[in-house]
Amino acid sequence: MSTGASVIFQERKDQILRKGQGGFDMNCNRESLAGAVSQRACVFCGSRVVLYPIADALHLVHGPIGCAAYTWDIRGALSSGPALHRLSFSTDLQEKDIIFGGEEKLYRALTELIDRHSPKAAFVYSTCIVGIIGDDLEAVCRKVAAEKGIPVLPVQSEGFKGNKREGYGAACKAMFRLMGSGDISSIPPLSLNILGDFNLAGEIWIIREYFDRMGIQTVANITGDGRVEDLQRAHGAALNVVQCSGATMELAKMMKESFGTPFLRVSYFGVEDMSESLYQIARFFETKDPGIMERTKELVKTELTKLYPRLQEFRRELAGKKAAIYVGGAFKAFSLVKAFRLLGMQVVLVGSQTGTEEDYKQLYEITDEGTIIVDDSNPLELSSFLKEKDVDVFVGGVKERPIAYKLGVGFCDHNHERKQPLEGFVGMLNFAREIHSSVMSPVWRFVPRRKAR
Ligand code: SF4
Repeated sequence: MSTGASVIFQERKDQILRKGQGGFDMNCNRESLAGAVSQRACVFCGSRVVLYPIADALHLVHGPIGCAAYTWDIRGALSSGPALHRLSFSTDLQEKDIIFGGEEKLYRALTELIDRHSPKAAFVYSTCIVGIIGDDLEAVCRKVAAEKGIPVLPVQSEGFKGNKREGYGAACKAMFRLMGSGDISSIPPLSLNILGDFNLAGEIWIIREYFDRMGIQTVANITGDGRVEDLQRAHGAALNVVQCSGATMELAKMMKESFGTPFLRVSYFGVEDMSESLYQIARFFETKDPGIMERTKELVKTELTKLYPRLQEFRRELAGKKAAIYVGGAFKAFSLVKAFRLLGMQVVLVGSQTGTEEDYKQLYEITDEGTIIVDDSNPLELSSFLKEKDVDVFVGGVKERPIAYKLGVGFCDHNHERKQPLEGFVGMLNFAREIHSSVMSPVWRFVPRRKAR
């Protein structure tokens, strides 16, 4: 069985840790190694995944058709109303446009699409080639905004100028330009914005319902099931609650600086983090409404009473099984480590595309001895670690799925393609059920690595 050592590039050795072998020393938050085939996406893709769920906006990709195809319907984020976000538009730049410039084509595409679809706002994404030829997106957007009377926002997301994290920043800057213009007179003191949830399978509706039961009004979903008018009023909320900190933390910081809106980091995954997030929010509002803590405790108690007996059933069979986690932002990984522990399972590998030193330190603290912690990994490394640790289930996104299936390892999609909500107390039950059915499936007895035993 491979130890994994042979597939690790020399230049990447300091991005991989084995807990218990030396202290914490992780070199992360840097550019991907050229040729290592990183699992990370480009800057443009980072912007696209954040802004995509704004359902009543037009999303126009200014670039060759390949960039639009790469992110076509990328999140499948659910909307309770309009679904314009699910149509992906591109200027489809050709050789002639590259030579003579694509601004005229962009202007024509924008005006035609706005006339045809009447969006509340338009986002125009810059891609690699647009950064190279130097089309003035800002000028075209300003001209069309003045003519059509809606916000037209350039997203400076040229793919080559960094990694996915820069894309999140470009998306945050574009959204921030919408804020501050809406009427906030009807917003009550107990109000918040939900940042960093993308409503992939209806999660935001679960979380909003918890906030309703606590007596808190949600002003804007940023960005799952998002609306332009809500974003324009978001500065009127008393609090920002930020999940998936990599994606929208920059927006929370900008709102704090400009509007004085405080923010809390939360996670809606797993029992511990979901409960603690609700309690944190209740503590924040306690001075304004002393009854909120009591309502929150009642909510958590009601949900846990339903959930725990069901979890115990799954735990009986899952105890001792091994899990691996590789996700975009490390924040989700913290909750997953705790969720697997609740199911009696052992996390033997955990990594992320965009974690910071602080994130990895926290992972180091909460994981067991021997756990591999990896930053910005690639398919070769991940395959090698999965084999070395003889993992029963791998949790990741669309790019990790084929790695698991080729090795004959169970897989749980915790990203764009999932159809069952995994957040909230009901999400923990869905997660446990899915992990149980994947891990316990008899099919794994027939895969080559298990048959060889
Ligand atoms: S923006 Fe650049 S890196 Fe991203 S998909 Fe387009 S060509 Fe590829």
